Amino acid sequence: MTAIGRDEPGAGTAAHGTGGHGHGGNIFDPELLDRCISCGFCLPACPTYALTKDEGSSPRGRITLMRALETGRLDPDDDRLRKEASFCLGCRACEPVCPAGVQYGHLLESWRDHQWRGRHRPPLAQVLMMVVERTPLVRLIGAVRRPARTRRPADGDVRTAGAGRAATNGRAPRPEQLTLMLGCFERGLFPGVSKAVQKLLPEISVPENQGCCGALHAHNGDSAGGVALAEKLGEELPGVIVTTAGGCAAHLAAVLGRDRVHELSEHLVKAGYEPVGEVTVDDGHGGRRRARVAIQDSCHLRNGLGVSAEPRALLGAVADFVPVAGDGSCCGSAGTYSLLRPRDARRVLDPKLDAVQTAGVDYVVAVNPGCLRQWQTGLARRKSRIRAVHLADLLAAAAAGRRLPTGLPIAARLPTVRLPSGMRVGRGFRLRKDAEAQNTDGWSA
Ligand code: SF4
Ligand code: SF4
Repeated sequence: MTAIGRDEPGAGTAAHGTGGHGHGGNIFDPELLDRCISCGFCLPACPTYALTKDEGSSPRGRITLMRALETGRLDPDDDRLRKEASFCLGCRACEPVCPAGVQYGHLLESWRDHQWRGRHRPPLAQVLMMVVERTPLVRLIGAVRRPARTRRPADGDVRTAGAGRAATNGRAPRPEQLTLMLGCFERGLFPGVSKAVQKLLPEISVPENQGCCGALHAHNGDSAGGVALAEKLGEELPGVIVTTAGGCAAHLAAVLGRDRVHELSEHLVKAGYEPVGEVTVDDGHGGRRRARVAIQDSCHLRNGLGVSAEPRALLGAVADFVPVAGDGSCCGSAGTYSLLRPRDARRVLDPKLDAVQTAGVDYVVAVNPGCLRQWQTGLARRKSRIRAVHLADLLAAAAAGRRLPTGLPIAARLPTVRLPSGMRVGRGFRLRKDAEAQNTDGWSA
């Protein structure tokens, strides 16, 4: 079979779900499904294959299952289909290594459109989707946690660099209107991130009344809903949309176009932002030393948009960047995955926690709020003194000469209380089922 070139970085996934609902046929774009030549190059890149060493939990194995579904050889209710549609992280690490240009993200979205339709969708995903569809509710979350906001969109303003310096090389900077996407959950969980962005880019406008980008829908079996929400957000946010969430950036870019959407690190580098200051920690001898910092890539930012050098360059300018094996692979957050399959999400994260501990870093930088939450929870669970921070926080702290928190976070010191119902409360006030009580399959459609 002739190899077919891959899409340019930035080609997304959202517009391709065909979402057939019958028993076999018309579920997938046949041309995309036919691209796989079963070479197996993708197997070493796949985190779920690394966990199980089971071909069925690899990209190649899942494509074989998709073909069986498409041709009607397997019934949609077949256990293997239900399990693997749910077990896949959707990290797309199988795409950059594929010589045949298989767009696995497109295929997975089409698969879940079919597999998770109606009552087959995980109930928690259904609830989260209903919440983020309601802009007033999302806005209420923001009103409580008070993320950044500006009164109204700024008029045709610029580009760089409050806390750092703009490098224009003698040229006038290109005027372009910038708007910050707040993100549904980031504005509630990490309101400081948007405020840090405002310090880095004081000209950016932050409209309060903005909805969801639709990535949650696209990744949970509602591609059409994901596209509709992204288009609506594109109308609400003028100019270039800057986002601090890699997953949202990839989905929005797929719908609105690559030039309308910039992930924060990508935008700062494109705009010539030069970080200033440095992040230091106590050296244990009464002095300060430069902090040692590792990174956690956002899967969709790295594998979907091809952005991974930019955050490394920025953090390396204000701290000692420490490359850690596997820093480009999924941390187990994967959108709603860590909520739907907490035990598997922990299994994915555990070796990465070992790696940063061995590397002796002070901070792990994330470029996606879901990854930030996953790392903070995992580090707290181990009572580690390593802290996870968002890149925006790191850069803004360096520029302001502000010290980032060190030592055990409060969440790690909280006792965990088991309730008679089997739920437990603790570590960041999380309320969830005891992960030990769940089998590895967690919920599956
Ligand atoms: S998805 Fe790509 S890398 Fe994996 S088996 Fe198919 S052609 Fe090979
Ligand atoms: S998306 Fe990630 S978990 Fe799923 S098959 Fe590809 S590499 Fe494996």
